[in-house]
Amino acid sequence: MTVYLVGAGPGDPGLLTQRAIELIRSAEVIVHDRLVPAGALAAAAPGTELIYAGKEGGGPSTEQAAIERLLVEHGRAGRRVVRLKGGDPFVFGRGGEEAEALRATGVPYEVVPGVTAGVAAPAYAGIPVTHRAAASAVAFLTGHEDPAKPDSALDWSALAAFPGTLVIYMGVRRLSAIAERLITAGRAPEEPAAVIERGTAPGQRVVKGSLGRIGQMAADAGLGPPALAVIGPVVALREELAWFEHRPLAGRTVAVTRARAQASGLAARLRELGAEVIEAPAIRIAPIDAPVPDLARYDLICMTSPNAVALLFERMAGAGLDARALAGATVAAIGPGTARALRERGVLADVVPEKFVAEDLVRALQEVPARRVLIPRAAQARDVLPDALRARGLEVDVVPLYDTVAEPLAPETLAALAAADYVTFTSSSTVTLLLGATGGRGIGRARAVSIGPVTSATLREHGIEPAVEASRHDVEGLLEALLAAAQAGPASPSRA
Ligand code: SAH
Repeated sequence: MTVYLVGAGPGDPGLLTQRAIELIRSAEVIVHDRLVPAGALAAAAPGTELIYAGKEGGGPSTEQAAIERLLVEHGRAGRRVVRLKGGDPFVFGRGGEEAEALRATGVPYEVVPGVTAGVAAPAYAGIPVTHRAAASAVAFLTGHEDPAKPDSALDWSALAAFPGTLVIYMGVRRLSAIAERLITAGRAPEEPAAVIERGTAPGQRVVKGSLGRIGQMAADAGLGPPALAVIGPVVALREELAWFEHRPLAGRTVAVTRARAQASGLAARLRELGAEVIEAPAIRIAPIDAPVPDLARYDLICMTSPNAVALLFERMAGAGLDARALAGATVAAIGPGTARALRERGVLADVVPEKFVAEDLVRALQEVPARRVLIPRAAQARDVLPDALRARGLEVDVVPLYDTVAEPLAPETLAALAAADYVTFTSSSTVTLLLGATGGRGIGRARAVSIGPVTSATLREHGIEPAVEASRHDVEGLLEALLAAAQAGPASPSRA
């Protein structure tokens, strides 16, 4: 079976290629480095064998020869193997050696290039490695070797004279020695230089100075691996072109507590806005097994969450029914997320209130003629809606479709959450179950962001005053409120 040598990009999961994701999904064995983007391995199918073969940094390391043997063995055993590496496999990734080993043993292989850190980290720092006026060539080199070594594989004099940008991988620790060597060989000490640590990741840090001083500046700032250095006039362009740190939530850490199945939309939006996201799914949706209600009996059906829509349609499908089974009824959705879930299944909601809590839905339904109402929903939900409709003399059936149950969270996740700038709460159950998971320790220094008044009330019951409350009670409303607060408030003390 083919062994795939795959580049995973420099850190931002968005820079994984389509091909890399496809291969990760279909792999039987993944042999990976330490420097692969967070979440890259999450795409692997359950049951995929994950083998850590890290070499970088001070931790336990796997011999290159052992890695090559591993690839050959699994390839020969007929398994679908992905060798996943940070950046590009053929740029300082020893992918070439692994390809040679496979070639020598007759195991077929393919190479999937990745976005290399030497291009991506500068790009995220606002530094184009070539630029019409400033650099017509770029050289990638390794700073791994001691530049003082007489038999160095690098020709430092030639590199000093190189007419273009120098990008140095693996060289932060030796940067002062490298700079000195380049300056001795004729490179100007005033030439702009930068060091980029954890490029493209939310915690990216950049130090910019001159070649003569950059080593000391990087050391003073405590920069460490993974980091690379860029030397050349293009570095000056960062002043105008920096963008990564200007995104509205750059430098802020935000925890997302909603169920994993629903968290991805909110997490993705937060990342887009520049936040570092901690996924702390405190709740899980546990479907309740029960037959499909007799839909034809009802002339009004009220959907109060996207989960309820998904589970109702799952059940309907199980009973051989599709959207037409709702044709006889008026369909109401509590908010745009629920309406979207309906639309995806071929149903346009007849009623969606302006704001998105039960009280608003009750108001929006005031003029809607109905006799028998179906409310498929969570087992634990407020009774505002059924009570109000019953008070109008309607016959109301509440059908519980799912329970929201506690999802255990790792101690590291809880610690990261307590150190976050903000924790988002999208329902009362996220409040109750998350605070349950913290075992009474609460959310530390993090500020609570609430989706609306009901969730805020639950927070206050637990002694937490929400720092932010959305005035529109959906994910977009929550993001708007968070953005306003983040822009008004100071950056958190630890990051200011
Ligand atoms: N194959 C990888 C490079 C592996 S060598 C690639 O193509 O990117 C490891 C070195 O790459 C690190 O020491 C560091 O210099 C650089 N590097 C990798 N990821 C980086 C990142 N996110 N930010 C800055 N430098 C990075």
